Amino acid sequence: MTEPLRNLDIEELVRLDTAHHLHPFTDYKALAAEGGSRIITRAEGVYLYDGHNNKIIDGMAGLWCVNVGYGRDDLAELAMQQMKVLPYYNTFFKTATAPSIELAAKVASKLPANFNHVFFANSGSEANDTQLRMVHHYWQCAGQPEKRFVISRENAYHGSTVAGASLGGMGPMHKQGGKLIPTIHHVMQPYWYKLGGDMTPEEFGLAAAKSLEDKILELGPENVGAFIGEPIQGAGGVIIPPSTYWPEINRICKKYDILLICDEVICGFGRTGNWFGLETFGIEPDLITMAKGLSSGYLPIAATGVSDRVANTIIENGGEFYHGYTYSGHPVACAVALRNIEIMEEEKLVENTRDVAGPHLAKRLAELADHPLVGEVRSVGLIGAIELVKDKKTRERFDPLGKVGTMCRDHFFKRNAIMRACGDTMVLSPPLVITPAEIDALIDVAKECIDATAKDIGVM
Ligand SMILES: *Cc1c(COP(=O)(O)O)cnc(C)c1O
Repeated sequence: MTEPLRNLDIEELVRLDTAHHLHPFTDYKALAAEGGSRIITRAEGVYLYDGHNNKIIDGMAGLWCVNVGYGRDDLAELAMQQMKVLPYYNTFFKTATAPSIELAAKVASKLPANFNHVFFANSGSEANDTQLRMVHHYWQCAGQPEKRFVISRENAYHGSTVAGASLGGMGPMHKQGGKLIPTIHHVMQPYWYKLGGDMTPEEFGLAAAKSLEDKILELGPENVGAFIGEPIQGAGGVIIPPSTYWPEINRICKKYDILLICDEVICGFGRTGNWFGLETFGIEPDLITMAKGLSSGYLPIAATGVSDRVANTIIENGGEFYHGYTYSGHPVACAVALRNIEIMEEEKLVENTRDVAGPHLAKRLAELADHPLVGEVRSVGLIGAIELVKDKKTRERFDPLGKVGTMCRDHFFKRNAIMRACGDTMVLSPPLVITPAEIDALIDVAKECIDATAKDIGVM
């Protein structure tokens, strides 16, 4: 494994970090009070190493993104070569670069047959900004400019820019002024465990989809341009919708002529055991958001997949699309993303997720279901969740939500393993290269951590 570039004085780094660095999604005062950040210095496969040389198993693939695992020399070497040949040129003004073209064609070949175009951005948030711009542009070109409303779901995550936070359904983000775009509305999420009550999951899937139809009728179908959803809500707590949900959403969007945007930022590139979550759930979108696994996080890049319906209309009738980013189609990021997809193909990582690693994870998670603190376990491919609850029978949650989850996450931290807490839902999304033995190690730690949490709160 390659050593860090410089000798690191970890204590000094922690001091400088606290003094100068405002982290994303962080309570600054609380972090400083706890002694500052853990400094990650290097990584290999599914393992991270921190400044004190602890070897940490990464059950989250960074932030749901390092699908091919850490330490890929060929991605590093390719980036270096591309930087030497052409570190940057833009794709504005009738120019392009070879990697941007090749990646566009490659991504199009992976998407459903009616998708032949992509538009590049640098993050999932930006790609969702592009979606919003694309939806408005499309309906103007289609002669129905009044179709301006976009409907999303409560507890959705679509990023952290103004458009991303507005599209998302995160209450705490909206409270800080994040819901700034008044044409965006939210409907019920398909979260059976929390909201399903006495309904079967199948009944509840239809009820949750009906909340979209109700909202469309309330706003007037002639005013609604698009619906956006993640196949599985990731940051919301790995919410896997009942099987009835997405087919009904397809039907409703078609009935009222509403564009369906599928946010594949987490599910895309193998996570659910198919190349895209839309295959797993039978979603029929008009627009697709991709980021994270597109480059396995080796460089920032994102893309909006555009169906023929939308692309043909804006190409034919749109004139200039006044939209884009300096780094749209960045040649180094594109070269790395292209090779990342080839690695996934060569090593059959999607098939492995579907046939080997995913089923193994499901089997091991099921062993936790009897635990007194565990209300439900669920997973698809290599994304999963463990619900920690106060009462298994009634599905009653702890109050306040998040305290027990945080305690559990801190136990993972102490044991050099990473799972994330979304409220009291422990979630995991490991690199797709994880082996069954490594999954065993992760779940063994999870069992210990849940036991320790149960002891903390006097349940065991
Ligand atoms: C992470 C995420 C985003 C935002 O991506 P960034 O690269 O952080 O801007 C958008 N949608 C979903 C579903 C995500 O998980």
